[in-house]
Amino acid sequence: MKSFLLAALASLAAAGPASAQPAPVTAPAGQAELSLWRLDCGALTVAQYGAFFNDAFDYPAGPKDVVASCYLIKHGDRYLLWDAGLPDALVGNPMTLPIGTMRMQRSVVDQLRQLNVRPEQIEYLGISHYHFDHVGQAPRFPGATLLIGRGDVGALLSTPPADADSAAALGHWLVGEGEKTELTADHDVFGDGRVTMIKLPGHTPGHYALLVRLASGPVLLSGDMYHFTEQVANRGVPPFNHNRADTLASMDRFDRIARNLGARVIIQHEPADVAKLPAFPQAAR
Ligand SMILES: [Zn+2]
Repeated sequence: MKSFLLAALASLAAAGPASAQPAPVTAPAGQAELSLWRLDCGALTVAQYGAFFNDAFDYPAGPKDVVASCYLIKHGDRYLLWDAGLPDALVGNPMTLPIGTMRMQRSVVDQLRQLNVRPEQIEYLGISHYHFDHVGQAPRFPGATLLIGRGDVGALLSTPPADADSAAALGHWLVGEGEKTELTADHDVFGDGRVTMIKLPGHTPGHYALLVRLASGPVLLSGDMYHFTEQVANRGVPPFNHNRADTLASMDRFDRIARNLGARVIIQHEPADVAKLPAFPQAAR
């Protein structure tokens, strides 16, 4: 999502319906158990979504509600946080700008506390891409190794940076204080092929999705490959995407992976998709 909104946020000091819980499933003998929680990482009402999200006049004028979601993946006793949402300065302080309104109920740290997970237990912070609504709470996890597409690192280190606010949110890692792994291909996070970052450039130069092969079946977390359901059918490309051709090629790969694996697709900004996963604090397994 476009990054300029955060210029104003920098000065701030602030659940969908549950789907049926899947039947209990456990990992095969000898495999670390894999769990996936959806976290509330804020919400946005975009004032004019047709103009904001599409360069071919596919959508009508008017507002659109989307959510910002993050995900906690537990592999044995190891943790990956996938995306870091809007900044937690929004909690209790909704913000309205000409482009829309942003709000947040609870911080990621607060939700992790409910699961008895401390921030320092997060081993990996994987981000789909550098935009402000995916890195806002990254500073709460300075001990995590950042997993990020190399193309996105380049965008943030360029002069001027592609997004100054996101560059600030990830500054701990960009200046070398925090550990980071810059990715140039698909990345097997835990080394057993069950949690894989999928390279899908276009939205940003180093954009990724996440494939989680749960015992109950694979789940594909979209990043911002798509922003909402209708975009899948009409191949809507936001005008602020980095590369239109790469976006369309990545949509093709994403759809083929989903179809061939029979994966549950979760478009991370689509409320109806996020609701496919068990309501927090329940986990999918
Ligand atoms: Zn986004």
